[in-house]
Amino acid sequence: MTGEKVLKKIIVSRQIHPADFLKFLTEKQKKELLTRASFLKGKRVVHINATGVGGGVAELLKSLIPYFRSLGIQSDWYSINPEIDKKFFDITNKIHNALQGAPVKISNKDWVEYQRVNKLLAAEIEKIDCDIIVINDPQPLFAGTYLGFEKKKIFFCHIDTSAAFKPVWEKILPAIGVYDRIVFSNSEFVNGDLPHSKLKIFTPAIDPLSPKQKIVSKKEARRYLKKQGGIPADYPLVAQISRFDIWKNPLGVIQAFRLVQSTHPEARLVLVGFNKAKDNPAAAVIYKDIEAVAKKSEDIYIFFDPKGKNVEEFTIMAQNGADVIVQNSIKEGFGLTVVEAMWKGQPVIGGPASGIRKQITDGENGFIAETPADLAERINLFLADPAKKKKMGETAKKTVIKKFLFPRLVLDHLKIYQSCFKSK
Ligand code: UDP
Repeated sequence: MTGEKVLKKIIVSRQIHPADFLKFLTEKQKKELLTRASFLKGKRVVHINATGVGGGVAELLKSLIPYFRSLGIQSDWYSINPEIDKKFFDITNKIHNALQGAPVKISNKDWVEYQRVNKLLAAEIEKIDCDIIVINDPQPLFAGTYLGFEKKKIFFCHIDTSAAFKPVWEKILPAIGVYDRIVFSNSEFVNGDLPHSKLKIFTPAIDPLSPKQKIVSKKEARRYLKKQGGIPADYPLVAQISRFDIWKNPLGVIQAFRLVQSTHPEARLVLVGFNKAKDNPAAAVIYKDIEAVAKKSEDIYIFFDPKGKNVEEFTIMAQNGADVIVQNSIKEGFGLTVVEAMWKGQPVIGGPASGIRKQITDGENGFIAETPADLAERINLFLADPAKKKKMGETAKKTVIKKFLFPRLVLDHLKIYQSCFKSK
């Protein structure tokens, strides 16, 4: 198609004020953030990603853009036009899977189409007035290779490339090489072939000003869960709130819960894993397995189909209302559900995944449980000693404020933007 528009501007109308978030920083960080922001004042930073709705990157940008703007940095966000030929997204989906290690074959014809769209993207990007261009993830990655302008280019990779499928990686690597800076959210996601000097790691963070991080009383939360989910409000409630996924190990949670029931027969378990993707056969399979196991017990509640539910509100209420939150993951890049619960004053009992260990210090702000028996023991401990749980919850919240809130992530961004100008 000629004259095809491949970029779409995403309108972000939310407005915030620096005072709303500067309070979450130490005096030293606040000073640094304001100094860097004043250096960047009037500069224009443009983010490009695959989609304006759905997915972690869109969520991130929806929040980041208002923060930058509030600091006087002109920021815009463009996504790939969802109306373009679906073929492109089928190809980039294959590239995504290959980068995460799947042995996917990508034909020459596919590469030609991928590059054709990226050439069009570059042509449109060149017309955007900006000082720094930030490309997120592989979909628009090759645009960087076609950009004729001298502006600084940053590539943000939100996926795990450590064991990328070689034939695809060999095509992708030179394109990443044209960027001035390369950012990952986890050092374990970095492929060893990448140029070390350009790399930075930005640990994920949550936006304390977003409705998703709302803190409500336990009483209100339990009332909501009773009304919307039929979960009794007056029994101890254990919860895991995350996608039905093999690596999140919901089956292990059920095993632990059965052990807990021998000491606390009145306890209830809720597994909340709303299926937001239209087409996610893997989650449906795991859900079916879990449902088959959970059906045998009236004390286990599971939520998968979002129909008729306000997913965000239900999630927030479960995070606020549970007596014990677990996140039993075996493998996890980070696990936002952990930090979200910790922000709400919940000390989380996590599985042994590396992303979870970044957030939980065993025995201080939560626990790490290696086996169902371990998990059951920690759940019992919290149920038996609410004062201890409360104290660890306070420590958990302090951890979030210190390490995992948006203002710190904004500071990470400002540092890298400023470094682009300094290296001129
Ligand atoms: N989430 C949700 N409702 C659910 C399950 C998950 O809103 O039923 C959200 C959760 O609050 C978090 C995100 O989905 O913001 C999951 O992010 P995480 O990093 O924990 O795991 P991922 O699903 O990306 O592996």
